[in-house]
Amino acid sequence: MTEVDARSAPAPDENSPGESRPEGDPPSVKRLVIVGASLAGMKAVEGARKSGYAGEIVLIGDEHHFPYDRPPLSKRFLDDERDVPYFREHTSYVEDLDATLLLGSPAIALRPAEKAVIVDGRAVHYDALVIATGASPRTMPQWAGMQGVVTLRRFADAVTIRGALDAQKNVTIIGAGFIGAEIASAARKSGCTVTIVEATETPLARAVGPEMGILLSKMHEKYGTALYCGVTVASVNGGESGDKVQSVELSDGRVIPTDLLLVSIGASPATEWLRDSGIELTPDGGIVCDASLQTSLPGVYAAGDVVHWPNAIMDTTMRLEHWTSANEQGALAGKNAAGVADRAVYETVPYFWSDWYGNRIQFVGVAGTITPHVVSGSVESDKFVALYQLGDRVVGALTVNEPSRIMKERRRISQRTSWQDALDVYAAADAARAGAVAADAIVAG
Ligand SMILES: Cc1cc2nc3c(=O)[nH]c(=O)nc-3n(C[C@H](O)[C@H](O)[C@H](O)COP(=O)(O)OP(=O)(O)OC[C@H]3O[C@@H](n4cnc5c(N)ncnc54)[C@H](O)[C@@H]3O)c2cc1C
Repeated sequence: MTEVDARSAPAPDENSPGESRPEGDPPSVKRLVIVGASLAGMKAVEGARKSGYAGEIVLIGDEHHFPYDRPPLSKRFLDDERDVPYFREHTSYVEDLDATLLLGSPAIALRPAEKAVIVDGRAVHYDALVIATGASPRTMPQWAGMQGVVTLRRFADAVTIRGALDAQKNVTIIGAGFIGAEIASAARKSGCTVTIVEATETPLARAVGPEMGILLSKMHEKYGTALYCGVTVASVNGGESGDKVQSVELSDGRVIPTDLLLVSIGASPATEWLRDSGIELTPDGGIVCDASLQTSLPGVYAAGDVVHWPNAIMDTTMRLEHWTSANEQGALAGKNAAGVADRAVYETVPYFWSDWYGNRIQFVGVAGTITPHVVSGSVESDKFVALYQLGDRVVGALTVNEPSRIMKERRRISQRTSWQDALDVYAAADAARAGAVAADAIVAG
Protein backbone atom coordinates (compact mmCIF):
# COMPACT_ATOMS: atom_id res chain seq x y z
CA MET A 1 0.00 0.00 0.00
CA THR A 2 1.41 3.36 -0.95
CA GLU A 3 0.60 6.21 1.36
CA VAL A 4 1.48 9.75 0.58
CA ASP A 5 1.03 12.71 2.84
CA ALA A 6 1.27 15.88 0.82
CA ARG A 7 0.75 18.23 3.73
CA SER A 8 4.32 19.32 3.23
CA ALA A 9 3.15 21.03 0.04
CA PRO A 10 3.46 24.82 0.35
CA ALA A 11 0.38 25.99 2.22
CA PRO A 12 -1.58 28.87 0.72
CA ASP A 13 -1.03 32.19 2.45
CA GLU A 14 -3.84 32.45 4.98
CA ASN A 15 -3.55 36.23 5.14
CA SER A 16 -4.18 36.87 1.48
CA PRO A 17 -7.87 36.38 0.84
CA GLY A 18 -8.80 36.75 -2.80
CA GLU A 19 -10.36 40.06 -3.79
CA SER A 20 -14.11 40.13 -3.71
CA ARG A 21 -15.75 40.72 -7.04
CA PRO A 22 -16.96 44.31 -7.50
CA GLU A 23 -20.60 44.45 -8.54
CA GLY A 24 -20.99 44.43 -12.31
CA ASP A 25 -17.34 43.68 -13.07
CA PRO A 26 -16.39 40.40 -14.68
CA PRO A 27 -15.60 37.78 -12.06
CA SER A 28 -12.02 37.62 -10.96
CA VAL A 29 -10.97 34.41 -9.28
CA LYS A 30 -7.43 34.42 -8.01
CA ARG A 31 -7.70 31.38 -5.79
CA LEU A 32 -9.99 28.44 -6.45
CA VAL A 33 -10.29 26.10 -3.48
CA ILE A 34 -11.71 22.60 -3.90
CA VAL A 35 -12.66 20.51 -0.86
CA GLY A 36 -12.71 16.74 -1.43
CA ALA A 37 -9.74 15.18 -3.18
CA SER A 38 -11.34 12.31 -5.05
CA LEU A 39 -13.10 11.88 -8.39
CA ALA A 40 -15.22 15.06 -8.48
CA GLY A 41 -12.53 17.16 -6.79
CA MET A 42 -9.82 16.05 -9.19
CA LYS A 43 -12.09 16.62 -12.19
CA ALA A 44 -12.84 20.12 -10.86
CA VAL A 45 -9.12 20.90 -10.99
CA GLU A 46 -8.95 19.57 -14.55
CA GLY A 47 -12.14 21.40 -15.56
CA ALA A 48 -10.84 24.73 -14.29
CA ARG A 49 -7.51 24.35 -16.09
CA LYS A 50 -9.16 23.18 -19.34
CA SER A 51 -11.33 26.31 -19.29
CA GLY A 52 -8.19 28.44 -19.38
CA TYR A 53 -8.06 29.35 -15.69
CA ALA A 54 -4.51 30.32 -14.74
CA GLY A 55 -4.97 31.32 -11.08
CA GLU A 56 -4.10 29.40 -7.94
CA ILE A 57 -5.82 26.07 -7.18
CA VAL A 58 -5.81 24.42 -3.76
CA LEU A 59 -7.21 20.87 -3.47
CA ILE A 60 -8.03 19.82 0.10
CA GLY A 61 -8.68 16.20 1.09
CA ASP A 62 -9.04 14.37 4.37
CA GLU A 63 -7.55 11.10 3.10
CA HIS A 64 -3.77 10.72 3.01
CA HIS A 65 -3.88 9.25 -0.48
CA PHE A 66 -3.79 11.18 -3.71
CA PRO A 67 -7.18 10.95 -5.49
CA TYR A 68 -8.06 7.33 -6.36
CA ASP A 69 -10.90 5.46 -7.96
CA ARG A 70 -13.55 3.74 -5.81
CA PRO A 71 -15.41 1.29 -8.12
CA PRO A 72 -12.38 -1.07 -8.33
CA LEU A 73 -12.43 -1.41 -4.51
CA SER A 74 -15.45 -3.72 -4.68
CA LYS A 75 -14.39 -5.38 -7.95
CA ARG A 76 -10.84 -5.80 -9.35
CA PHE A 77 -9.12 -4.99 -6.08
CA LEU A 78 -10.85 -7.87 -4.28
CA ASP A 79 -9.70 -10.26 -7.04
CA ASP A 80 -6.15 -9.63 -7.99
CA GLU A 81 -5.18 -5.96 -7.94
CA ARG A 82 -2.79 -4.93 -5.21
CA ASP A 83 -2.16 -1.20 -5.71
CA VAL A 84 -4.19 1.88 -4.87
CA PRO A 85 -6.15 2.70 -8.06
CA TYR A 86 -4.83 6.25 -8.42
CA PHE A 87 -6.28 8.41 -11.19
CA ARG A 88 -3.07 10.28 -12.02
CA GLU A 89 0.65 10.25 -11.48
CA HIS A 90 1.31 12.12 -8.24
CA THR A 91 3.72 14.50 -9.93
CA SER A 92 1.14 15.51 -12.51
CA TYR A 93 -0.85 17.53 -9.94
CA VAL A 94 2.00 19.99 -9.75
CA GLU A 95 3.61 19.56 -13.17
CA ASP A 96 0.49 19.44 -15.35
CA LEU A 97 -2.25 21.00 -13.21
CA ASP A 98 -0.22 23.45 -11.13
CA ALA A 99 -2.29 22.62 -8.04
CA THR A 100 -1.41 22.66 -4.35
CA LEU A 101 -2.65 19.57 -2.52
CA LEU A 102 -3.44 19.57 1.18
CA LEU A 103 -3.98 15.88 1.95
CA GLY A 104 -4.80 14.31 5.30
CA SER A 105 -6.49 17.64 6.08
CA PRO A 106 -10.21 17.52 6.86
CA ALA A 107 -12.13 20.75 6.31
CA ILE A 108 -14.06 21.30 9.52
CA ALA A 109 -16.05 24.43 8.72
CA LEU A 110 -17.03 26.86 5.98
CA ARG A 111 -17.21 30.58 6.80
CA PRO A 112 -18.83 32.24 3.79
CA ALA A 113 -18.69 35.77 5.22
CA GLU A 114 -14.87 35.50 5.33
CA LYS A 115 -14.74 33.35 2.18
CA ALA A 116 -12.75 30.81 4.11
CA VAL A 117 -12.57 27.07 4.73
CA ILE A 118 -11.20 26.04 8.12
CA VAL A 119 -8.56 23.32 7.79
CA ASP A 120 -6.04 22.17 10.39
CA GLY A 121 -7.08 25.06 12.65
CA ARG A 122 -6.43 27.77 10.10
CA ALA A 123 -8.40 29.59 7.43
CA VAL A 124 -7.81 28.86 3.74
CA HIS A 125 -9.36 31.75 1.84
CA TYR A 126 -11.01 31.40 -1.54
CA ASP A 127 -12.42 33.54 -4.28
CA ALA A 128 -14.38 30.57 -5.57
CA LEU A 129 -15.02 27.21 -3.93
CA VAL A 130 -16.04 23.75 -5.12
CA ILE A 131 -17.38 21.31 -2.52
CA ALA A 132 -16.79 17.69 -3.54
CA THR A 133 -16.78 15.82 -0.24
CA GLY A 134 -18.78 12.83 -1.53
CA ALA A 135 -20.63 10.48 0.76
CA SER A 136 -19.92 8.44 3.88
CA PRO A 137 -21.26 4.93 4.42
CA ARG A 138 -24.12 4.57 6.87
CA THR A 139 -23.09 2.54 9.87
CA MET A 140 -24.79 0.52 12.60
CA PRO A 141 -23.28 2.31 15.58
CA GLN A 142 -24.24 -0.42 18.07
CA TRP A 143 -21.67 -2.78 16.44
CA ALA A 144 -19.35 -0.30 14.73
CA GLY A 145 -16.36 -0.76 17.07
CA MET A 146 -16.40 -4.56 16.98
CA GLN A 147 -13.55 -6.39 15.25
CA GLY A 148 -14.75 -7.89 11.95
CA VAL A 149 -17.51 -5.30 11.40
CA VAL A 150 -16.70 -3.16 8.34
CA THR A 151 -18.08 -0.74 5.77
CA LEU A 152 -16.57 -0.11 2.33
CA ARG A 153 -15.77 3.35 1.07
CA ARG A 154 -12.02 3.82 1.39
CA PHE A 155 -8.95 1.93 0.27
CA ALA A 156 -8.14 0.77 3.82
CA ASP A 157 -11.64 -0.79 4.08
CA ALA A 158 -11.01 -2.77 0.90
CA VAL A 159 -7.67 -4.03 2.30
CA THR A 160 -9.47 -5.33 5.42
CA ILE A 161 -12.17 -7.01 3.37
CA ARG A 162 -9.69 -8.66 1.04
CA GLY A 163 -7.77 -10.01 4.04
CA ALA A 164 -10.94 -11.76 5.20
CA LEU A 165 -11.70 -13.09 1.71
CA ASP A 166 -8.15 -14.42 1.34
CA ALA A 167 -8.69 -16.37 4.58
CA GLN A 168 -11.92 -17.86 3.09
CA LYS A 169 -14.12 -16.90 5.98
CA ASN A 170 -17.84 -16.73 6.67
CA VAL A 171 -18.99 -13.41 5.28
CA THR A 172 -22.33 -11.84 6.17
CA ILE A 173 -23.45 -8.73 4.34
CA ILE A 174 -26.19 -6.42 5.61
CA GLY A 175 -27.86 -4.85 2.57
CA ALA A 176 -28.48 -6.33 -0.89
CA GLY A 177 -27.54 -3.17 -2.80
CA PHE A 178 -24.96 -3.03 -5.58
CA ILE A 179 -21.85 -2.76 -3.41
CA GLY A 180 -23.06 -5.57 -1.12
CA ALA A 181 -23.76 -7.72 -4.19
CA GLU A 182 -20.31 -7.05 -5.67
CA ILE A 183 -18.61 -8.05 -2.44
CA ALA A 184 -20.77 -11.18 -2.23
CA SER A 185 -19.63 -12.03 -5.72
CA ALA A 186 -15.93 -11.52 -4.88
CA ALA A 187 -16.31 -13.47 -1.65
CA ARG A 188 -17.88 -16.45 -3.44
CA LYS A 189 -15.05 -16.39 -5.95
CA SER A 190 -12.61 -16.60 -3.03
CA GLY A 191 -14.43 -19.64 -1.65
CA CYS A 192 -16.14 -17.90 1.28
CA THR A 193 -19.56 -18.85 2.61
CA VAL A 194 -21.69 -15.78 1.98
CA THR A 195 -25.03 -14.63 3.38
CA ILE A 196 -26.83 -11.40 2.50
CA VAL A 197 -29.44 -10.04 4.90
CA GLU A 198 -31.85 -7.53 3.36
CA ALA A 199 -34.46 -5.69 5.41
CA THR A 200 -36.88 -5.12 2.52
CA GLU A 201 -38.72 -7.78 0.52
CA THR A 202 -37.51 -6.30 -2.76
CA PRO A 203 -33.80 -5.55 -3.07
CA LEU A 204 -32.66 -2.74 -5.39
CA ALA A 205 -36.22 -1.46 -5.81
CA ARG A 206 -35.16 2.20 -5.85
CA ALA A 207 -32.38 1.63 -8.36
CA VAL A 208 -34.01 -0.64 -10.95
CA GLY A 209 -37.63 -1.01 -9.77
CA PRO A 210 -39.09 -3.86 -7.70
CA GLU A 211 -39.52 -6.46 -10.50
CA MET A 212 -35.99 -6.20 -11.82
CA GLY A 213 -34.62 -5.93 -8.27
CA ILE A 214 -36.08 -9.34 -7.47
CA LEU A 215 -34.95 -10.84 -10.78
CA LEU A 216 -31.37 -9.57 -10.46
CA SER A 217 -31.20 -10.83 -6.88
CA LYS A 218 -31.87 -14.36 -8.09
CA MET A 219 -28.27 -14.34 -9.33
CA HIS A 220 -27.16 -14.69 -5.72
CA GLU A 221 -28.83 -18.05 -5.32
CA LYS A 222 -27.48 -19.19 -8.67
CA TYR A 223 -23.90 -18.48 -7.58
CA GLY A 224 -24.19 -19.93 -4.08
CA THR A 225 -24.88 -16.82 -1.95
CA ALA A 226 -27.73 -17.14 0.56
CA LEU A 227 -30.06 -14.12 0.38
CA TYR A 228 -32.61 -13.56 3.16
CA CYS A 229 -35.10 -10.76 2.45
CA GLY A 230 -37.53 -9.15 4.88
CA VAL A 231 -35.30 -9.87 7.88
CA THR A 232 -32.80 -7.82 9.85
CA VAL A 233 -29.80 -8.53 12.05
CA ALA A 234 -31.19 -8.56 15.60
CA SER A 235 -27.90 -9.07 17.45
CA VAL A 236 -24.21 -9.71 16.90
CA ASN A 237 -22.42 -12.28 19.02
CA GLY A 238 -18.94 -10.99 19.86
CA GLY A 239 -17.62 -14.22 21.43
CA GLU A 240 -16.10 -14.50 24.90
CA SER A 241 -14.39 -11.14 24.73
CA GLY A 242 -17.52 -9.61 23.27
CA ASP A 243 -15.57 -7.54 20.75
CA LYS A 244 -14.89 -9.91 17.82
CA VAL A 245 -17.81 -10.93 15.66
CA GLN A 246 -18.51 -14.68 15.63
CA SER A 247 -22.11 -14.96 14.53
CA VAL A 248 -25.20 -12.87 13.91
CA GLU A 249 -28.77 -13.63 14.92
CA LEU A 250 -31.48 -12.58 12.51
CA SER A 251 -34.91 -11.23 13.41
CA ASP A 252 -36.42 -14.60 12.41
CA GLY A 253 -34.19 -16.42 14.92
CA ARG A 254 -31.71 -17.85 12.40
CA VAL A 255 -28.05 -17.77 13.53
CA ILE A 256 -25.37 -17.21 10.87
CA PRO A 257 -21.69 -17.98 11.68
CA THR A 258 -19.82 -14.80 10.73
CA ASP A 259 -16.16 -13.77 10.67
CA LEU A 260 -16.67 -10.65 8.57
CA LEU A 261 -19.83 -8.54 8.86
CA LEU A 262 -20.08 -5.98 6.09
CA VAL A 263 -22.57 -3.18 6.71
CA SER A 264 -23.64 -2.01 3.26
CA ILE A 265 -26.80 -0.01 3.85
CA GLY A 266 -26.11 3.03 1.70
CA ALA A 267 -24.30 6.31 2.15
CA SER A 268 -25.12 9.86 3.22
CA PRO A 269 -23.67 13.09 1.83
CA ALA A 270 -20.50 14.06 3.72
CA THR A 271 -21.72 17.54 4.60
CA GLU A 272 -21.71 17.54 8.41
CA TRP A 273 -18.86 20.05 8.31
CA LEU A 274 -21.15 22.55 6.52
CA ARG A 275 -23.95 22.49 9.10
CA ASP A 276 -23.26 25.96 10.53
CA SER A 277 -22.28 27.61 7.25
CA GLY A 278 -25.75 28.71 6.17
CA ILE A 279 -25.49 26.75 2.91
CA GLU A 280 -28.83 25.25 1.91
CA LEU A 281 -28.99 21.49 2.46
CA THR A 282 -31.75 18.96 1.78
CA PRO A 283 -33.07 16.97 4.77
CA ASP A 284 -30.74 14.07 3.86
CA GLY A 285 -27.72 16.42 3.81
CA GLY A 286 -27.42 16.90 0.04
CA ILE A 287 -26.30 20.35 -1.14
CA VAL A 288 -29.02 22.27 -2.96
CA CYS A 289 -27.61 23.55 -6.27
CA ASP A 290 -28.96 25.30 -9.33
CA ALA A 291 -28.52 23.92 -12.85
CA SER A 292 -24.99 25.39 -13.04
CA LEU A 293 -24.13 23.51 -9.80
CA GLN A 294 -23.86 26.75 -7.85
CA THR A 295 -25.01 26.36 -4.24
CA SER A 296 -27.12 28.83 -2.29
CA LEU A 297 -23.86 30.72 -1.56
CA PRO A 298 -22.55 32.86 -4.44
CA GLY A 299 -19.24 31.62 -5.84
CA VAL A 300 -19.61 28.29 -4.05
CA TYR A 301 -20.23 25.29 -6.31
CA ALA A 302 -20.64 21.59 -5.58
CA ALA A 303 -19.99 18.37 -7.51
CA GLY A 304 -20.40 14.62 -7.17
CA ASP A 305 -22.29 12.58 -4.59
CA VAL A 306 -23.16 15.66 -2.49
CA VAL A 307 -25.10 17.46 -5.22
CA HIS A 308 -28.88 17.82 -5.32
CA TRP A 309 -29.79 19.69 -8.50
CA PRO A 310 -32.57 20.19 -11.08
CA ASN A 311 -31.80 17.72 -13.86
CA ALA A 312 -33.77 19.22 -16.74
CA ILE A 313 -33.38 16.28 -19.07
CA MET A 314 -35.18 14.00 -16.59
CA ASP A 315 -37.66 16.72 -15.52
CA THR A 316 -36.81 16.32 -11.84
CA THR A 317 -34.34 17.25 -9.11
CA MET A 318 -32.06 14.47 -7.96
CA ARG A 319 -28.91 13.43 -6.15
CA LEU A 320 -26.87 10.63 -7.68
CA GLU A 321 -24.13 8.42 -6.28
CA HIS A 322 -22.75 7.40 -9.65
CA TRP A 323 -19.22 7.56 -10.99
CA THR A 324 -20.21 9.11 -14.33
CA SER A 325 -22.14 12.05 -12.89
CA ALA A 326 -19.42 12.77 -10.30
CA ASN A 327 -16.90 12.82 -13.13
CA GLU A 328 -18.97 15.14 -15.32
CA GLN A 329 -20.16 17.40 -12.51
CA GLY A 330 -16.61 17.84 -11.22
CA ALA A 331 -15.40 19.11 -14.58
CA LEU A 332 -18.38 21.44 -14.99
CA ALA A 333 -18.28 22.84 -11.44
CA GLY A 334 -14.53 23.50 -11.75
CA LYS A 335 -15.04 25.35 -15.01
CA ASN A 336 -18.01 27.35 -13.76
CA ALA A 337 -16.33 28.26 -10.46
CA ALA A 338 -13.13 29.40 -12.18
CA GLY A 339 -15.18 32.06 -13.94
CA VAL A 340 -13.13 32.25 -17.15
CA ALA A 341 -15.53 30.63 -19.57
CA ASP A 342 -19.29 31.12 -19.82
CA ARG A 343 -21.19 29.23 -17.15
CA ALA A 344 -22.70 25.97 -18.39
CA VAL A 345 -25.61 24.00 -16.99
CA TYR A 346 -25.53 20.32 -16.10
CA GLU A 347 -28.08 17.78 -17.21
CA THR A 348 -27.63 14.07 -17.62
CA VAL A 349 -29.32 10.77 -18.19
CA PRO A 350 -28.08 8.95 -15.08
CA TYR A 351 -25.84 5.95 -15.74
CA PHE A 352 -24.29 3.33 -13.52
CA TRP A 353 -22.86 -0.13 -13.88
CA SER A 354 -22.15 -3.01 -11.55
CA ASP A 355 -20.37 -6.37 -11.93
CA TRP A 356 -21.68 -9.49 -10.20
CA TYR A 357 -20.45 -13.04 -10.66
CA GLY A 358 -18.92 -12.16 -14.03
CA ASN A 359 -22.12 -10.45 -15.26
CA ARG A 360 -22.19 -6.79 -16.27
CA ILE A 361 -25.31 -4.94 -15.14
CA GLN A 362 -25.89 -1.44 -16.57
CA PHE A 363 -28.69 1.04 -16.04
CA VAL A 364 -29.56 4.38 -17.60
CA GLY A 365 -32.32 6.84 -16.75
CA VAL A 366 -34.79 6.37 -13.91
CA ALA A 367 -36.79 3.36 -12.76
CA GLY A 368 -39.29 4.57 -10.17
CA THR A 369 -41.92 1.92 -9.60
CA ILE A 370 -42.35 1.28 -13.31
CA THR A 371 -42.76 -2.31 -14.53
CA PRO A 372 -40.24 -2.65 -17.34
CA HIS A 373 -40.64 -4.57 -20.60
CA VAL A 374 -37.95 -7.04 -21.67
CA VAL A 375 -37.44 -6.15 -25.32
CA SER A 376 -34.46 -8.31 -26.16
CA GLY A 377 -32.98 -11.54 -24.80
CA SER A 378 -34.29 -13.27 -21.70
CA VAL A 379 -33.93 -12.85 -17.98
CA GLU A 380 -33.29 -16.61 -17.59
CA SER A 381 -30.21 -16.43 -19.82
CA ASP A 382 -28.75 -13.44 -17.88
CA LYS A 383 -28.55 -11.51 -21.16
CA PHE A 384 -31.31 -9.02 -21.87
CA VAL A 385 -32.47 -5.45 -22.39
CA ALA A 386 -35.45 -4.08 -20.42
CA LEU A 387 -37.03 -0.67 -21.06
CA TYR A 388 -38.97 1.55 -18.65
CA GLN A 389 -41.93 3.62 -19.87
CA LEU A 390 -43.34 6.79 -18.35
CA GLY A 391 -46.24 8.36 -20.25
CA ASP A 392 -45.35 8.13 -23.92
CA ARG A 393 -41.61 8.31 -23.30
CA VAL A 394 -38.87 5.78 -22.64
CA VAL A 395 -37.19 6.91 -19.39
CA GLY A 396 -34.99 4.02 -18.34
CA ALA A 397 -33.14 0.95 -19.59
CA LEU A 398 -31.53 -1.97 -17.80
CA THR A 399 -29.15 -4.30 -19.57
CA VAL A 400 -27.44 -7.44 -18.38
CA ASN A 401 -24.46 -8.57 -20.44
CA GLU A 402 -25.44 -6.30 -23.34
CA PRO A 403 -22.75 -3.60 -23.07
CA SER A 404 -23.09 -2.43 -26.67
CA ARG A 405 -26.77 -1.49 -26.16
CA ILE A 406 -26.73 0.69 -23.08
CA MET A 407 -25.29 3.92 -24.50
CA LYS A 408 -27.72 3.74 -27.42
CA GLU A 409 -30.54 3.64 -24.89
CA ARG A 410 -28.98 6.54 -23.01
CA ARG A 411 -29.00 8.55 -26.22
CA ARG A 412 -32.62 7.67 -26.94
CA ILE A 413 -33.67 8.78 -23.45
CA SER A 414 -31.78 12.06 -23.80
CA GLN A 415 -33.49 12.62 -27.16
CA ARG A 416 -36.87 12.09 -25.45
CA THR A 417 -37.63 9.22 -27.77
CA SER A 418 -41.25 8.08 -27.68
CA TRP A 419 -42.05 4.68 -26.18
CA GLN A 420 -43.32 3.38 -29.52
CA ASP A 421 -40.18 4.47 -31.38
CA ALA A 422 -38.02 2.78 -28.74
CA LEU A 423 -40.00 -0.47 -29.13
CA ASP A 424 -39.83 -0.20 -32.92
CA VAL A 425 -36.03 -0.37 -32.80
CA TYR A 426 -36.23 -3.83 -31.24
CA ALA A 427 -39.15 -4.95 -33.41
CA ALA A 428 -37.13 -3.99 -36.49
CA ALA A 429 -34.09 -5.88 -35.19
CA ASP A 430 -36.27 -8.97 -34.52
CA ALA A 431 -37.75 -8.76 -38.01
CA ALA A 432 -34.29 -8.46 -39.56
CA ARG A 433 -33.09 -11.48 -37.55
CA ALA A 434 -36.14 -13.53 -38.54
CA GLY A 435 -35.56 -12.60 -42.19
CA ALA A 436 -31.91 -13.69 -41.95
CA VAL A 437 -32.90 -17.03 -40.38
CA ALA A 438 -35.47 -17.62 -43.11
CA ALA A 439 -32.91 -16.80 -45.82
CA ASP A 440 -30.41 -19.20 -44.23
CA ALA A 441 -33.06 -21.91 -44.17
CA ILE A 442 -33.79 -21.42 -47.88
CA VAL A 443 -30.05 -21.56 -48.71
CA ALA A 444 -29.61 -24.65 -46.53
CA GLY A 445 -32.72 -26.27 -48.07
C1 LIG B 1 -16.83 0.53 -3.28
C2 LIG B 1 -17.53 1.42 -4.26
C3 LIG B 1 -17.85 0.93 -5.52
C4 LIG B 1 -18.51 1.73 -6.44
N1 LIG B 1 -18.83 1.22 -7.67
C5 LIG B 1 -19.48 1.99 -8.56
C6 LIG B 1 -19.84 1.46 -9.84
O1 LIG B 1 -19.57 0.31 -10.15
N2 LIG B 1 -20.49 2.28 -10.71
C7 LIG B 1 -20.82 3.57 -10.39
O2 LIG B 1 -21.44 4.27 -11.21
N3 LIG B 1 -20.48 4.10 -9.19
C8 LIG B 1 -19.83 3.34 -8.28
N4 LIG B 1 -19.49 3.86 -7.05
C9 LIG B 1 -19.86 5.26 -6.75
C10 LIG B 1 -18.75 6.22 -7.18
O3 LIG B 1 -17.49 5.74 -6.84
C11 LIG B 1 -19.03 7.56 -6.51
O4 LIG B 1 -20.22 8.07 -7.06
C12 LIG B 1 -17.89 8.56 -6.70
O5 LIG B 1 -16.74 8.13 -6.05
C13 LIG B 1 -18.30 9.92 -6.15
O6 LIG B 1 -17.22 10.80 -6.27
P1 LIG B 1 -17.10 12.06 -5.32
O7 LIG B 1 -15.79 12.69 -5.67
O8 LIG B 1 -18.33 12.85 -5.35
O9 LIG B 1 -17.04 11.46 -3.82
P2 LIG B 1 -15.96 10.54 -3.13
O10 LIG B 1 -15.38 9.59 -4.09
O11 LIG B 1 -16.63 10.01 -1.91
O12 LIG B 1 -14.82 11.56 -2.66
C14 LIG B 1 -15.01 12.53 -1.67
C15 LIG B 1 -13.68 12.81 -1.03
O13 LIG B 1 -13.83 13.89 -0.11
C16 LIG B 1 -13.23 13.53 1.13
N5 LIG B 1 -13.85 14.31 2.21
C17 LIG B 1 -15.03 14.08 2.83
N6 LIG B 1 -15.25 15.02 3.78
C18 LIG B 1 -14.17 15.85 3.76
C19 LIG B 1 -13.80 17.01 4.49
N7 LIG B 1 -14.60 17.52 5.43
N8 LIG B 1 -12.61 17.60 4.20
C20 LIG B 1 -11.81 17.10 3.24
N9 LIG B 1 -12.10 16.02 2.51
C21 LIG B 1 -13.28 15.40 2.75
C22 LIG B 1 -13.50 12.03 1.20
O14 LIG B 1 -12.66 11.38 2.15
C23 LIG B 1 -13.17 11.62 -0.22
O15 LIG B 1 -11.80 11.45 -0.40
C24 LIG B 1 -18.84 3.07 -6.10
C25 LIG B 1 -18.52 3.56 -4.82
C26 LIG B 1 -17.88 2.75 -3.91
C27 LIG B 1 -17.55 3.29 -2.54
